[in-house]
Parts: sequence; C-alpha cells; structure tokens
Amino acid sequence: CQATARDDDASLRNDESPVHGLSEVIVGVLGGGQLGRMMCQAASQMAIKVMVLDPQKNCPASSLSYHHMIGSFGDSTTVEEFAKRCGVLTVEIEHVDVDTLEKLEKQGVDCQPKASTVRIIQDKYQQKVHFSRHGIPLPEFRKIDDLEGAKKVGELFGYPLMIKSRRLAYDGRGNYVAKSEEELSSAVDALGGFGRGLYAEKWAPFVKELAVIVARGRDNSISCYPVVETIHRDNICHIVKAPAKVKWKTRELATEVAFNAVNSLEGAGVFAVELFLTEDGEILLNEVAPRPHNSGHHTIESCYTSQFEQHLRAVVGLPLGDPSMKTPAAIMYNILGEEEGEPGFQLAHQLIKRALAIPGAAVHWYDKPEMKKQRKMGHITIVGPSLNNIESNLAILVEGKGLDDK
Ligand code: ATP
Ligand code: MG
Ligand code: MG
Repeated sequence: CQATARDDDASLRNDESPVHGLSEVIVGVLGGGQLGRMMCQAASQMAIKVMVLDPQKNCPASSLSYHHMIGSFGDSTTVEEFAKRCGVLTVEIEHVDVDTLEKLEKQGVDCQPKASTVRIIQDKYQQKVHFSRHGIPLPEFRKIDDLEGAKKVGELFGYPLMIKSRRLAYDGRGNYVAKSEEELSSAVDALGGFGRGLYAEKWAPFVKELAVIVARGRDNSISCYPVVETIHRDNICHIVKAPAKVKWKTRELATEVAFNAVNSLEGAGVFAVELFLTEDGEILLNEVAPRPHNSGHHTIESCYTSQFEQHLRAVVGLPLGDPSMKTPAAIMYNILGEEEGEPGFQLAHQLIKRALAIPGAAVHWYDKPEMKKQRKMGHITIVGPSLNNIESNLAILVEGKGLDDK
C-alpha cells in the first residue's frame, strides 16, 4: 500500500464539467476491486460520477471510474483527502480505516452506510454480539483468549469447532476448523495466534447456505432481493442459484431474518446477509457485508434493478428500484484462478469461450492484472426458464466439473 495518495493521471477527468446525471453528488467508493468496477458500470447508465480510492494503479475499477485516486483506504490522511472530493462516501470493502470514517462523519461528511455499521461488521465477534443483542438467530459463539479458554469452549460447543479471526477475514481465510481438542493449538497457530483476536463458533450443521441482498434507502425504506443459494468451494463462494430451491416458508423466514439484521444497522446502501439453513428448517445468520456482494452478482442480468444500481440509488438518495427477478431463474458461476500466471489465464479463457456459446450466458471479466490461484477473476451468469434448464447449460460450461462442489 502506498502511504500517500496520488491521482491516476490516466483516469483524470475534467473537473470543470457540470454534473447533470441522476445525482448531483459525486460518489466516493473506498476500494476499487470488482465490486467497485460493477458499481461504476451501473453508475455510467445513470451518469452518476463514481470516484474510487484504491492502492493499485490498475485495479478493476480504475479504467471505468470517473476518477481513481491511488492510495490506501486504510490510511487516515488519504481517506480524508479523498473524502474532500466526494459528496457521499461509501465502501466496497469493510476493511477500511473506520476511525477516520467516524471522525469525518463528525465533521459532517456523509458516509453511507454509517461508520458505526462498518465498525460493527469489520469485527466479526462484535458483529455477532450486535446481532445476538437484536435477537437474530446465530450459531453460538465465544471469544477465546488462550488455549485453556479455547478448550473450555470446545467442551461446551463440541467438535468440529470453527475458530475464526475477528478481523480482516475474507474467502474463509480467517477460518480454521478444529476437529478435536488436539487440533486447537494448530488452529490457533494457523490463524496467527490469540494476539490476532480470535473467537470460536459452534459448528452449524447446515443443509444449504442461503443469502439475501437487502437494500436500505436514505428514508430507511427496506427492500429485499429474492433468497438465493450459495455453494462454496474451499470456503469461497463458487456458485449462486437464484431463486433458492427451498420451501416457501424457508424463503419467508430467511427474508425475515435478513430484514431484521439490516434493520438493526444504520445507514443506506446494499447489504448482504449470509445464512445457514439447518435440517430442521432453522435459519441462522452467518455474517453480513455492508456492501454489494458476490451472492448478488446475478441481479445484473436477472433482476429489474441490479444490486449495484440499487446501492447507488440508496447512497445518493434516489428511490429504491424493484428487486424482483425478471427472469424465472439464474445461476452465477465464479471464474476462480486455477493456476498462477499465463496457464491460469488460458484456462479462464477456455471457460469464457464455452460461455459465449451458451444461450442466456453473460460473461463478466474483472480485468485483474495478475492471475492467482483461487482469486476471483470474473463471473458468468446464465439466465433461463428454470434452474433445471440452466443447470444443464452449466454442466456444458464446466464440462461436468465442479457442479457438486460444496
Ligand atoms: P466471506 O468471503 O464470505 O467474507 P469469510 O472469510 O468472512 O467469508 P465466513 O463467511 O465466516 O468466512 O465462512 C466461510 C464459510 O465457512 C461459510 O460460507 C461456511 O461455508 C463455512 N462456515 C462458517 N462458519 C461456520 C460454522 N459456524 N459452521 C459451519 N460452517 C461454517
Ligand atoms: Mg466475511
Ligand atoms: Mg462469508
């Protein structure tokens, strides 16, 4: 990360030009990854100006943004400098300098969602404390500060036991499953030790993982997208099926839990609520993201208002759009890096070539400069008359591989 901010000359736009888009305010986004990129795509349709702050010169959002400031969203001076240029500040990643966001808010800077929300969410333990106080059903959890404490929690919750980092977690990188008491110390070591801030979660014996994108407008109106099923591979979201093939009652319950979770947080924007469905039909909250999310990418092709457009509408104060599906079904397939470097690009391109021949398939390529194993490089959304129909097209796409991955 660079310590100081720098403007990306290549993306400098004429600041003298008047703003006559659907919003007069410039939206500043902390982070310029694929979520920022897709926000910029939605913004261009409404002629809303989006500025991004990201340390990487050729980050995915750079070329599509109105302006890219090169600098760290974890650095106080940089975030303050960036905020001066925007009418409203939002995030595409929760791991940002929240102390600065709070300070800026006190000075009158408009942050959506609110800094308090980002603060709660960026510490997964605090997030769990918050939601349990608001009566949201969750797997049981406890803070662990030493091995003795971890053992006690193991006795209480049983094994397998999920050990999680409180902070800076993504794609399961802050999680470790201890299958027995003997594995506790290696779990703690693998996560960087107790000093990093750890907590334990009771194993959730889920039959499916579900997710709901929930939008909250500046007037506090709340609107929920259809419940989807998310299928993970090695802890990384891999496939999303919309709508989820679950009972009507389960959809109702999942939507209610998601609504209540978001209703307990402050500020406008799109939120993603990750859920577990247990065998006996119980819904437990896993975690919430205060921003557009991988489980909502399908909305670009399958819903009247995409999650990215919805986020922009929410943060600038436009009326929320219709979140319902305009196609009967959709499946989103993440293009994850399979090999490092050039061989990885070649494999991805083969997949994309097959996708381009499939009816109803749309390819999104994030234009990341480097290919790494497991990195999210792009995604493919297939829409169609039913999930069964799309599943057979997906089988053609992946040549039968990866469909049963959990
Ligand atoms: P993300 O990329 O979604 O931010 P993350 O790193 O924050 O991921 P989690 O969402 O906490 O990680 O967990 C990743 C995955 O691990 C979940 O989607 C689920 O498959 C599994 N998992 C998490 N918590 C539990 C639990 N308590 N019991 C069983 N499985 C779990
Ligand atoms: Mg997470
Ligand atoms: Mg998660």
